[in-house]
Amino acid sequence: MNIKINNPAEDKTDEMEILPEILPIIPLRNSVLFPHQIIPLAVGREKSLKLLADINEQTNYIGVIAQKQGLVDDPGPDDLYQWGTIATVLKVIDLPDDSKSVIVQGIHRFRLLDFAQSDPYIKVVIEKMDDVTTDDLQTEALVMNLRTLMQSISEYLPNITGEHLMMLTNIQDPGRLTDTAISLLNLETPEKETILEIVSVKERIEKATFILNEYLQKLEIGSKIQNEVQGEISKSQREYFLREQMKAIHKELGDDKEGVEIAELREKLEESELPEDAHKVTEKEIDRLSRMPSSSAEYTVSRTYIDWLLDLPWNKSTEDNLDLKKAEEILEGDHYGLVKVKKRVIEYLAVRKLKKDMKGPILCFMGPPGVGKTSLGKSIASALGRKFIRISLGGLRDEAEIRGHRRTYIGALPGRIIQSIKRAGTNNPVFMLDEIDKIGMDFRGDPSSALLEVLDPEQNFSFADHYLDVDFDLSKVMFIATANIADPIPPALKDRMETLELPGYIEEEKLQIARKFLVPKQIEEHGLSDEQIVFHDDALRQIIRSYTREAGVRNLEREIAAICRHVAKQVASEETKRQEIEEERVRKALGPIKFFSETSERIIRPGIATGVAWTAAGGDILFIEATRMKGKGNLILTGQLGDVMKESAQAALSYIRSRAEDLGLADLDFESENIHVHVPAGGIPKDGPSAGVTILSAMASLLTGKLVHSDIAMTGEITLRGTVLPVGGIKEKVLAAHRAGIRHMILPWKNEKDLEETPEEVREEMKFSFIKEMSEVLELALQHENEEKAADDNAA
Ligand code: ADP
Repeated sequence: MNIKINNPAEDKTDEMEILPEILPIIPLRNSVLFPHQIIPLAVGREKSLKLLADINEQTNYIGVIAQKQGLVDDPGPDDLYQWGTIATVLKVIDLPDDSKSVIVQGIHRFRLLDFAQSDPYIKVVIEKMDDVTTDDLQTEALVMNLRTLMQSISEYLPNITGEHLMMLTNIQDPGRLTDTAISLLNLETPEKETILEIVSVKERIEKATFILNEYLQKLEIGSKIQNEVQGEISKSQREYFLREQMKAIHKELGDDKEGVEIAELREKLEESELPEDAHKVTEKEIDRLSRMPSSSAEYTVSRTYIDWLLDLPWNKSTEDNLDLKKAEEILEGDHYGLVKVKKRVIEYLAVRKLKKDMKGPILCFMGPPGVGKTSLGKSIASALGRKFIRISLGGLRDEAEIRGHRRTYIGALPGRIIQSIKRAGTNNPVFMLDEIDKIGMDFRGDPSSALLEVLDPEQNFSFADHYLDVDFDLSKVMFIATANIADPIPPALKDRMETLELPGYIEEEKLQIARKFLVPKQIEEHGLSDEQIVFHDDALRQIIRSYTREAGVRNLEREIAAICRHVAKQVASEETKRQEIEEERVRKALGPIKFFSETSERIIRPGIATGVAWTAAGGDILFIEATRMKGKGNLILTGQLGDVMKESAQAALSYIRSRAEDLGLADLDFESENIHVHVPAGGIPKDGPSAGVTILSAMASLLTGKLVHSDIAMTGEITLRGTVLPVGGIKEKVLAAHRAGIRHMILPWKNEKDLEETPEEVREEMKFSFIKEMSEVLELALQHENEEKAADDNAA
């Protein structure tokens, strides 16, 4: 390495008079050279190398100017700043790659006046610029302030050492002090250049103070952020170490709680007979748990998961008691009537006895509320000696409710199936899925498809719950579904099930149920005895007739409970020792009658007819009313009717108009009448075609002025040409009409076969007229003039 050393330059800064006016220039890419500053420059550009070649002891002055853009390789006049520093070359060091390192020392500011040449290297005409000093207090103060600022900055920058600060203290000249301070910092070129271009020392210090202040602020903020980040990290590290130490101390003292917990879990795992898969998963999870700090959130999640795995009755089942005689006794002992259903259940159990697996159809009890679906399920469970569990599927829309959420969700749990199995504590309970007809479907997935898997004997031996992650065998579970009506059940589910219908009870059956089951049960539940309270049949009948209107016996049971409460209070307060419940007592205990036999009271003028509707609660009677007013031939329909029902009303009116002459309405000007049909109760939406005949009867009655017989109820769909078509739900409708005290029904002739399903007692008590044509309905339903007269005479 060839090193060329020139005279040291300590004094040259003061030799201003001999400084040249034309200078060769070395452009600086990313820095600014200040007077008095000594820096090494890496020189690689061809022009600069040529310049260095011409340097000798006599002419070793050069000009150093910063480039505006560091990346420009061959800068022209526009690429350079207008101010630079005269420098002297102290040392040139040849580097192996043909480039050189030059150590230069700044001497004096200059301003560029003109370009003298640009080849072989740049030469410019310059004007030497001297500092303009003012000796005043303000400058002194600024100097002090600058020193303090540098002191503060040095606290953030380890590369500004004590020596640097000492050097700054030693510099007395304010201009030079400012230059040196700025040159020490890693500032942007434009900022340094502004300082270089100020000759007024006071202004220079002011500007420098401004720049340094900003710089200090940045350093402070940066360091604060750094500290915060550092603080977070070191805090969690510290906690981790402390916890580890604590663990070690606990272990040493022999009270390692976590260790004990893990050991207990392991012991429990060994004791419980988990299937192989579940065993493996649990073991792995316990291992994972043992490596987690117990205070972490994940620990709790993992612990809960292990508990679920360990607590599920994977292999725990109850011994089936398949004594059919005993099963029959239990079913008989718990339920009155329901002969067909009980018979089918016993057959079902018989098959179970012969064929050990559960691959038969799933039973589905279908009927209105309160007919004993749940209690049948319970009886089956107790006959078999199995546990009984029940979940309601009503309103269930989310598949995750059946299958559970994956454990990655916060607060995840298994689905309702697995939860219930855990509650049962055995893997072969009788599992009742209530309200399977009310299951929904939306964007959260289709719960019925998950249910399909649950109910399918080909699949349910490996039911996958998202939370468990290990398949659970549901094949030993005896599923029973319940539903109010069949229509809304998804067809695929319906396919898997065998439906047993429980249509509802007639008064006589309700009386028996009340006498034999509900009354003894409520007496016991209220802490009473047979000595203290006695229900008479007429009282029970009255409750059934006047305080309830339902297909089942749920409200009946409730009213009986209300009477028991009433008596319990009297007995407890020693007002009475024994209470006989007769009609009079019932009224006192339950208040005014809630339901009347309304038909004769409602049908007091033409335009009203009695229909029957089929509802989820069984069936009910309804009154259709029609009225007329002056208008433009419009048909007004109210009572929240669906489209099908509205169309039936249109069809009824069209039929009447087409038959006006036969009906004695030849003179009627339909165009000047508005007809209004209303179906109470207005708050409940209704639809379906089966009210057709009733609407038509009401309209015909209105227009002809003939009353409809108050003891007749009717159902049937109509066509425009007056044919009557069959409708559904006949059994429920007949029972509802019977409940309401109606003894004559008009039914479509094609529905005659459906009557077989209704109880014989009802059939015996009622009269049925089967019709094909609308004209027959009107013939039967509308009173004739002489009948009307007779009725009027009677009334008078
Ligand atoms: P569902 O599940 O059909 O809504 P529940 O099984 O809850 O009806 O029955 C309601 C109440 O009526 C229960 O106390 C039940 O024991 C009783 N019950 C219903 N039907 C009968 C019956 N045939 N014999 C005896 N009790 C009955």
